[in-house]
Amino acid sequence: MTIALSQFDEVRLDHVSRDFGALNALRDINLTIRRREFIALLGPSGCGKSTTLNCIAGLLPVTGGAIWLDKSRVDTLRPEERGFGMVFQNYALFPHLNVRQNIGFGLKMRGTPKAEMERKVDEALRLVRLQGQENKLPGQLSGGQQQRVAIARAIVIEPPLVLMDEPLSNLDAKLRLEMRAEIRRIHNELGATTIYVTHDQDEALSLADRIVVLRDGVIRQVGTPKELYEAPAHLDVADFMGFRN
Ligand code: ADP
Ligand code: MG
Repeated sequence: MTIALSQFDEVRLDHVSRDFGALNALRDINLTIRRREFIALLGPSGCGKSTTLNCIAGLLPVTGGAIWLDKSRVDTLRPEERGFGMVFQNYALFPHLNVRQNIGFGLKMRGTPKAEMERKVDEALRLVRLQGQENKLPGQLSGGQQQRVAIARAIVIEPPLVLMDEPLSNLDAKLRLEMRAEIRRIHNELGATTIYVTHDQDEALSLADRIVVLRDGVIRQVGTPKELYEAPAHLDVADFMGFRN
């Protein structure tokens, strides 16, 4: 395959905290993510999911602790130095650039030679199944197609880690299900390592290898869907997961 993601063994959050003034939005987060895992960060609105993701991406400095990629400390690096792929809820595509230009933008910024850039963009287009759409502008695409562009743009830079923040929440129910399956397919096909933020229990249960349940800035539990189901660590985890009725 033309797109070869950067290799590493693990990403480690080591006593990470993030305060906003007097608010402790994240408190003592310890988490190790292994290569090729699909991790869901799950919890209700305001529990600190986006803050966690933004700290990993480098869009938000941590106020305590450290983030490691194997033996390299990355929380002190700028976002572009970390080079993680990001997919947001609102796509954040460039409206005046066509699909091909949107996907190639990051490679162009990095000074990738044109022929190599074209090859990688072609491969990304194939992976997200957007061949034939490459000359359209984002405004000419459906929501699902726009999110495919956003995913292609995130993976084409060959990031060690793909970070997704509620990527499906702007889509209608039918497209959400379709794109959910697509996201897992793309993850598998690429051999990616993905951290996926959602407040949707079904999404987390059906997508993730392991789920991290967050509550008020604290990790309540980490486990496979089966582990959470069989042994929820708190009653509120069981309640939130809908396992108690
Ligand atoms: P989630 O993504 O789980 O909904 P967030 O990570 O966005 O939650 O927010 C966690 C907490 O931090 C919330 O109480 C939120 O209001 C607060 N918060 C997030 N970003 C900021 C900010 N830039 N300034 C002040 N408070 C913030
Ligand atoms: Mg959020």
